[in-house]
Amino acid sequence: MSKSKVIVYDTNKQDMKSIIEDVFVNFPQDVKGKKVLIKPNMLGPFEVERGVTTNPVLIEALVDYLIDCGANIIVGDNPGGQGGGVIAAAKKSGIYQASKGHFENIGTACQLFPMNSRFVKEINVSDAVLDCDILIDLPRFKTHAYAGISGSIKNMFGIVVGPGKAKLHFATPKPDDFHELLVDLYQVRVPDLVIMDGIYAMEGMGPTTGNLKKIDKVLASTDGVALDATMARMMGFDIELIRHILVANERNLGVYKEEDIELVGDASKIEGFELPISYSAEVKATAPKMAGVLDLYKLSTTVPNFCKPENCVKCGECAKSCPVGAITMDPYPVINRKKCISCYCCAELCLRECFEYIDGTQVFETLFSKLQ
Ligand code: SF4
Ligand code: SF4
Repeated sequence: MSKSKVIVYDTNKQDMKSIIEDVFVNFPQDVKGKKVLIKPNMLGPFEVERGVTTNPVLIEALVDYLIDCGANIIVGDNPGGQGGGVIAAAKKSGIYQASKGHFENIGTACQLFPMNSRFVKEINVSDAVLDCDILIDLPRFKTHAYAGISGSIKNMFGIVVGPGKAKLHFATPKPDDFHELLVDLYQVRVPDLVIMDGIYAMEGMGPTTGNLKKIDKVLASTDGVALDATMARMMGFDIELIRHILVANERNLGVYKEEDIELVGDASKIEGFELPISYSAEVKATAPKMAGVLDLYKLSTTVPNFCKPENCVKCGECAKSCPVGAITMDPYPVINRKKCISCYCCAELCLRECFEYIDGTQVFETLFSKLQ
């Protein structure tokens, strides 16, 4: 079996234009006259400086290249938090401007797609996803408090239009189920090419409230699973804890073992990279000893905490995003912790960073020692 190639580019050594050209030399795509969907990570109306969304520098270089090649391109995503609409979110993140007239609100035309999934029978998917000849996935190099990483696979959550996302969270309150669902969605339309923006990595409690670390990387592959596994190793994860990578591999969607990946460029582990609390060394060391404890840890202790009323503009976006209706506005958000399923949607979609994550490591250790 041939290996999957993953290339790690250094943006200090090559400009973005030559990186994109090199990507298409290594991973050729017949784009002339074809419908090409460019799917960035456009989680919401976040400014470029927040590092939540795909860097416009990468998008612009790709758009320029594809226009020169005669492709019919659309740039689009279905953001979770829209705070004023999809176009406003695209403008705020710089994605609209970088798309040079090719950005579209892909949520306006969609269809019910039958799913082969344990959790959902059908979902609303953008026509642009189902109709394109070539899909180019542009994820960020970042952590995700709930899924561990937000890479190629997780970025395809955005094929789902609007409120359908909340239903999916509701259907998968356990982390392992959510990981499996991510692969169900990835399978709807596996990307033909993945180009990951790692100019700034996000560490800690991503995908919106983590810290940025400049690493000057762009990763590319036609195998999104291999690319995600490479990113996860660079971050310092134990791959066995990123269940969606394992599930995708079991379904023959890509490879993850080091011996199955042909690595080009510097993919060494980033020293001191901070993992999400829910994937910390303590949990990693303890979880394999007792089945189900990792789930218990995540569900019981890493719950967002509304802590910055001085930042809050009482927009209610967090309450609207909660899939289980656990948040009431009074006049600030109040979380019903019995209802909360720790999906982190509220914290992800709050543009004002009003939530913090409770570090439950000590609580967990006490609990675990009692269970032992
Ligand atoms: S916590 Fe954030 S999302 Fe919720 S009401 Fe306040 S500003 Fe809006
Ligand atoms: S309160 Fe926040 S973390 Fe809890 S279920 Fe609702 S959106 Fe998810």
